[in-house]
Amino acid sequence: MSERKIALITGGSRGIGFSCAKELAKAGCDIIINDICDAATAQPAIDEIKSLGAEAWFYQFDVSNDEQVHTAVEKMIAEHGKIDILLNNAGITKDGLFVKMDAEQWERVIKINLGSAYYVSHAVIKYMMKARQGAIINMSSVVGLHGNAGQANYSASKAGLIGLTKTLAKEFGKRNIRVNAVCPGFIQTAMTADLGNTDEYMKLIPMGRLGTPEDIAKVVKFLALDTDYVTGQAIEVSGGLII
Ligand code: NAD
Repeated sequence: MSERKIALITGGSRGIGFSCAKELAKAGCDIIINDICDAATAQPAIDEIKSLGAEAWFYQFDVSNDEQVHTAVEKMIAEHGKIDILLNNAGITKDGLFVKMDAEQWERVIKINLGSAYYVSHAVIKYMMKARQGAIINMSSVVGLHGNAGQANYSASKAGLIGLTKTLAKEFGKRNIRVNAVCPGFIQTAMTADLGNTDEYMKLIPMGRLGTPEDIAKVVKFLALDTDYVTGQAIEVSGGLII
């Protein structure tokens, strides 16, 4: 089995997940990218990670499908032997005011953003237990801590991730598995591309700029590799959006 740590990153072919993949690759990890997109779409991301000197593999599956997750994780373990770091990053928005939010809109977001963290963590954690070490990082959001009008489904999913994070930290600390959440503010990715007038958002941010995926990746790398004693935390990375 490789001496290098292996990190599984869901929704890792672009945006924040891809940036985290590169940061961990630069720090000496090999990378398993998951995404729902096809292999050809993910190939440039795989090539870029390999150009950093890491091994990189792509596994296409839907993180909200328990059976697909289970099959894919078993295949990863058979092919690579272990998963040291899990970043539950895949996520979507389906925004709307609560009175107009239909059940499909609610359930889809909860299942992809929160259900996925159960499915993937549940499939992976038994191998971390056997290895007596591991780090899980859940990509939450500032709105999971503070709420946001028009995002009842998304905010609830991200708040749920924080509850899951704290509970798993308590259940698995003695097994040397740390579980933390990162709560990004406004980060420039495809997800926020149609926010419109970003000047208004920037007025709310003490640091005076929107965040970049790299801002998040640095904190993910810290939680994954640079600390042995931080667990159960939800760390806001928002330029001070809410202080
Ligand atoms: P993004 O849309 O660029 O990336 C999300 C990735 O998840 C995409 O590659 C997408 O294909 C993948 N994905 C979606 N559904 C999937 C599924 N069912 N199975 C597997 N993969 C799936 O968005 P991003 O901004 O990079 O967001 C990454 C994470 O960060 C999300 O969880 C998001 O909620 C969170 N976040 C983003 C911001 C922001 O401002 N961009 C703020 C707070 C939290």
